[in-house]
Amino acid sequence: MLYCADCQSLCAGGERCPFCGSGRLRPVRPGDPVLLCSASQEEEGPIAGALGDAGIPYLEKTEAAGGVTSIVLGRSRSAGVRVFVPYGERERGRGILRGIGFLKDDPPARTAGEEAEEKRTDEKSGGAPAGGKGRKAARIFSILLFLLAVAAVAILTDALIDRLRFFFHW
Ligand SMILES: [Zn+2]
Repeated sequence: MLYCADCQSLCAGGERCPFCGSGRLRPVRPGDPVLLCSASQEEEGPIAGALGDAGIPYLEKTEAAGGVTSIVLGRSRSAGVRVFVPYGERERGRGILRGIGFLKDDPPARTAGEEAEEKRTDEKSGGAPAGGKGRKAARIFSILLFLLAVAAVAILTDALIDRLRFFFHW
């Protein structure tokens, strides 16, 4: 794991920092401050409190929320706080954030059983027996219509030939 001394980001490798483009990458050390989380200013209090209680040193930086709004109104409400902890304490810090409900665990993956259940419901609604019967009846009806049409054409053709015969005195 490499550490960018300029923006305190971690990256897997490469010559330049993927976040700020700095070339000052070096292997991360346990004491390097790394980003633990970004929080709103309301959330920052409990996070700082929980980290302090756990004895994890942390560092806070107010996110630069540039733009006219923040100049006119002072710190805009969207301005967040970035909380940094030493690299060696990052996992513990994350555990603490989870503990206070700030970091949510990834939603649990759906079990295979649930997916199978869903599939079964699909099949049920798709191939309902009543629908099958209806479709069969419609098919028979369309075949009958077709036969009727063929018969009609045959009859008409006969009639036409009769008329032509009459007309040309065959
Ligand atoms: Zn960087």
